Amino acid sequence: MQVLFIEPAYKNKYPPLGLMKLSAFHKQRGDEVCFVKGLDKYLRGQLWDRIYITTMFSFHWAETVKTIKYYEFSVKDPRNLFIGGPMATLMANEIHEETGFIPVKGLLNEKGKLRLSGDHRVDGMVPDYSILEEIKYKYPASNAYFAYMTRGCVRRCPFCAVPKIEPFYVEYVPLRKQIQMINDNYGEKKDLLLLDNNVLASPKFDKIIDEIKEAGFHRGAKLNNSLRYVDFNQGIDLRLLTKGKMRRLAELPIQPLRIAFDHITLKDSYIQKINWAAKLGFKKLSNYILYNYVDTPEDFYERLRINVDLNEKLGTQIYSFPMKYIPVTNKDRKFVGKHWTLRYLRSIQCILQATHGVVSPRKEFFEAAFGRDIKEFRKLLIMPDKYIIYREDHKNNGTAEWSKLLGSLSATQKKDFLRIVHENRFDGSVASEYPEVNTLLEHYKKGKCQASEQHLF
Ligand code: SF4
Repeated sequence: MQVLFIEPAYKNKYPPLGLMKLSAFHKQRGDEVCFVKGLDKYLRGQLWDRIYITTMFSFHWAETVKTIKYYEFSVKDPRNLFIGGPMATLMANEIHEETGFIPVKGLLNEKGKLRLSGDHRVDGMVPDYSILEEIKYKYPASNAYFAYMTRGCVRRCPFCAVPKIEPFYVEYVPLRKQIQMINDNYGEKKDLLLLDNNVLASPKFDKIIDEIKEAGFHRGAKLNNSLRYVDFNQGIDLRLLTKGKMRRLAELPIQPLRIAFDHITLKDSYIQKINWAAKLGFKKLSNYILYNYVDTPEDFYERLRINVDLNEKLGTQIYSFPMKYIPVTNKDRKFVGKHWTLRYLRSIQCILQATHGVVSPRKEFFEAAFGRDIKEFRKLLIMPDKYIIYREDHKNNGTAEWSKLLGSLSATQKKDFLRIVHENRFDGSVASEYPEVNTLLEHYKKGKCQASEQHLF
């Protein structure tokens, strides 16, 4: 058979493991495989025995559907065009309606999903790393073993896609054989990237840590004189983190240690556990901060602030990664949470654009970007794009005038001003009955932000 594997042209950090496993499966059968990212005229012009298209987030909807439609006639029999992956699992009906193809849902660990003998083994196969060399696109994380030691998750967090995609928790998947086979086929890798959704929930946690160490990943381990690192890239579950488990994690060269801080109610537990981590020698930490969900802008700011204060106190480097909540089946990124508005989200986007999506662990940078306190942050959230981004440039010309005008509005005028600002429509289609408000709105009209950190500070 001649088989084509396709990943749509969205930007992503990690290679498509599902396609890599499928490639290994087909190669084992003696089939010829080809991998492409995005649209390719030459490959589209051929007739393939099988085509597999992977999908990722629902907000890649437009790009993904475009890719499916582009290749729909490049397969000999339409029943042999397979669409899989997270978005395909969550939005199978919508994809079917839009493209006419019925996606394959969930993991490839059941017989018959691909109508080939042995197809239930695909999920357990060692990924074929060699297909990554066939494309120009370079995945930022590539010199690493990609593996799982558990599957699924024991929790059912309503904002998360994992329970729907992998509904059953598998408490242990052996690592040794996976690494051995990768070494034999593709050579040794420096780092170990574990994609487990919730490793702390496993009753076999101790065995998992032992096995990772035996595979050559203990603290201080090197490969060709370079330090090796382990990364649980989905983060570890704060609520299941005990002192004992933290001690065991500290036996591994984890960098960064990723912990989610999804809600302010977890504040005390979060601070306590970061203190443990610092005592056990974890210096680099990475913190996912979910916003635009049930949180408020104030608690979002507070969570960022906690990290900056912890860094000062403990000498750690906690990098915060704000993650905007989008329901797992939204076709774009336009969702607005209960306590958020279009203007607030746009302002956060402007701040993060300048900081490349990461919040600096250093206080002076954090305060320059997000304000020195909640009051300053609140003000930033309603500022015109250009004054947020090019803050230094506009400090005395623009921002000062905007600020003065804002301060001079009466309570009724301010209410009307905020009503318009929160809609984030500054094309003149929405106006106020108060001339003062319209003058203030003029500041929002010109200038889009395309910025880097140098503009901000
Ligand atoms: S603990 Fe993490 S992986 Fe598990 S359901 Fe919640 S968010 Fe998803």
